[in-house]
Amino acid sequence: MEELRVKRRIVLVPVPAQGHVTPIMQLGKALYSKGFSITVVLTQYNRVSSSKDFSDFHFLTIPGSLTESDLKNLGPFKFLFKLNQICEASFKQCIGQLLQEQGNDIACVVYDEYMYFSQAAVKEFQLPSVLFSTTSATAFVCRSVLARVDAQSFLLDMKDPKVSDKVFPGLHPLRYKDLPTSAFGPIESILKVYSETVNIRTASAVIINSTSCLENSSLAWLRRELQVPVYPIGPLHIAASAPSSLLEEDRSCIEWLNKQKLGSVIYISLGSLALMETKDMLEMAWGLSNSNQPFLWVIRPGSIPGSEWTESLPEEFSRLVSERGYIVKWAPQMDVLRHPAVGGFWSHCGWNSTLESIGEGVPMICRPFTGDQKVNARYLERVWRIGVQLEGALDKGTVGRAVERLIVDEEGAEMRKRAINLKEKLEASVRSGGSSCSSSDNFVNSLKMKNFM
Ligand code: UDP
Repeated sequence: MEELRVKRRIVLVPVPAQGHVTPIMQLGKALYSKGFSITVVLTQYNRVSSSKDFSDFHFLTIPGSLTESDLKNLGPFKFLFKLNQICEASFKQCIGQLLQEQGNDIACVVYDEYMYFSQAAVKEFQLPSVLFSTTSATAFVCRSVLARVDAQSFLLDMKDPKVSDKVFPGLHPLRYKDLPTSAFGPIESILKVYSETVNIRTASAVIINSTSCLENSSLAWLRRELQVPVYPIGPLHIAASAPSSLLEEDRSCIEWLNKQKLGSVIYISLGSLALMETKDMLEMAWGLSNSNQPFLWVIRPGSIPGSEWTESLPEEFSRLVSERGYIVKWAPQMDVLRHPAVGGFWSHCGWNSTLESIGEGVPMICRPFTGDQKVNARYLERVWRIGVQLEGALDKGTVGRAVERLIVDEEGAEMRKRAINLKEKLEASVRSGGSSCSSSDNFVNSLKMKNFM
């Protein structure tokens, strides 16, 4: 292939949500370190800070977007659908202006798979584009499969307990109920958005925040099906850490962790979007209290429906938590996970949290809330065998038992060994000569080739 004069600008298009912003900004850091200039195109809704960590990046905001209250009222799927409709024209205008002002130095547009409106502009200006997947490769496979099913008969299968417990053909060990359906909207609109996210249109390649030692067979499936190069270059938080928290981190929990015994603490966090019912919170508090283990609990403002923060929880909750627990609104999660006092992570199993926990060798209690979290939870329990999944109604007995299995029992010690083993593999994959590092080099080299488009 013939080499081109290398264009130096990469345009990133993030989804305005924590779990998507974090990895795309890390990707930006990784590409910046390889000599590219980074332009981040935000919607008005984004709150990505142009903090000192990103002072070398160029930020642009496109108008005509939705507000935070639209997200609340519409729910994530309708919100994304609308965002894609609204942003198509303004993104075209933005890219047109960028090309005019800066000359055509755009090497490619890297867009989050949920920001598929980007494709209209790249088509119009004949720019190379790359789809960036912030979820696992297996979740991408599942969305591709779901995009082809008939919504109504799939819905019937999901409602039938005899079927929903069965392994979905071709996706072992995922059952029907592990597939990334969502609590956030009707199946029709979810499948509609999924079919848009897996339609790569004119994208020349797919970048995934994953690595072959975690998801070799799903990556092979994607390579076969998509017929464009697939570059697994993760975990990005190890390859190119870039702090991009949208909420203020409460660091007082680190002082609290400093006072706890080695490997004794359960860290509980459900990420940036998951919600929790009061009755489940009470069962958790009872179970945690009975387990006699200390726990650090992130309760995000707005995560209990109908309540600003914890004010609607009964007195009993504070009593149960006060003895052994510590609550914050938002934690410095990476610092918490790498703290020696932390013995386990109770997680909703978002893909970033999953990678961060494995990256620190911390085994997990998996309580997925929705979407791809269910896929990750099943893989944590059945494929990587470093997690205990809690299914069905929560009660204090099962909560206490899960904590014991993870922190006290031999079973937990075995899980921890496997998690540490995986941590070492992840670190090796992003080091020079490792699979993700080579994949990242291959991607950058491909940008220099004339037929990259
Ligand atoms: N996170 C954090 N502090 C918290 C809770 C979460 O910094 O108290 C970060 C976490 O490290 C992760 C992200 O928020 O990078 C959550 O992403 P994930 O994909 O796990 O879940 P989502 O929020 O998308 O459901």
